[in-house]
Amino acid sequence: MPTLSPSRAADFKTCPLLYRLRSIDRLPEQPTADQARGTLVHAVLERLFDLPAGQRTLTQAHDLVDPSWAALLAEQPELASLEIGDDFLTSAADLLGGYFEMEDPSRLEPAERETLIEAVLDDELLIRGYIDRLDVSPAGDLRVVDYKTGGAPREAFEARALFQLKFYALVLMRTRGVVPRVLRLVYLKDREICDYTPDAVELERFEKTIVALWRAIEQAALARDFRPKPSKLCGWCAHQALCPSFGGTPPPYPVDSAVTAAVDARTARLAAQAKAAEDAATVG
Ligand code: SF4
Repeated sequence: MPTLSPSRAADFKTCPLLYRLRSIDRLPEQPTADQARGTLVHAVLERLFDLPAGQRTLTQAHDLVDPSWAALLAEQPELASLEIGDDFLTSAADLLGGYFEMEDPSRLEPAERETLIEAVLDDELLIRGYIDRLDVSPAGDLRVVDYKTGGAPREAFEARALFQLKFYALVLMRTRGVVPRVLRLVYLKDREICDYTPDAVELERFEKTIVALWRAIEQAALARDFRPKPSKLCGWCAHQALCPSFGGTPPPYPVDSAVTAAVDARTARLAAQAKAAEDAATVG
């Protein structure tokens, strides 16, 4: 069954060619220093919540920065080749300071962290993603929390961030039968929290949007045609050198893509079903 994550869905919305290069060509991308810092801060927050509530202090969080970075370097040796400035670890510590200005982790008991959630839409599309944190109130209300650490201007990515959270809210509604009460974006750099309250009707509409988006991906894959869509987000695209909008040429369309195989298989299945229905009508 084909799968779609919020990041890949947002890629296609942002730029079909970007989706192709990431999801079909699967071109590697060297992480940037901002992304590495984000991964580090997420890792520290994850470890912080492993501690008993009373020990979740800013000092403790700062103490976790060095060992967490060492653990990440061991897990992802490619991070060692990153050109990071002297202030890399200090800036990570500063983002953690921002976190403590907005939330007090000693008063939180997350129900889930770094959890994979998934649901099947329309009987044939598996949507899935990892949520940073899920809080459940004593009354059973859900709050989905996502930490944003990026150095890029927030306006450029805010729509994408909300899209991601609605994606998670839809999965939770479909799998747990509950509409999350709050979708929370925690912007550590800006030291600002954005809470959003979705409703069931909106999420049902959003589900239709996701299915339509997948149909558009299928059409593009069938036609082997993913066009560039330049925008201000091109400034953060790792594939400008391969992009016709920047004078580049994409690589030949891969012959062994899982996405294309899934789309081709579905098209063949639908054609066979249509033919069987036609044959049955003729016999009848
Ligand atoms: S540079 Fe811009 S238009 Fe080209 S692939 Fe990247 S996001 Fe798309």
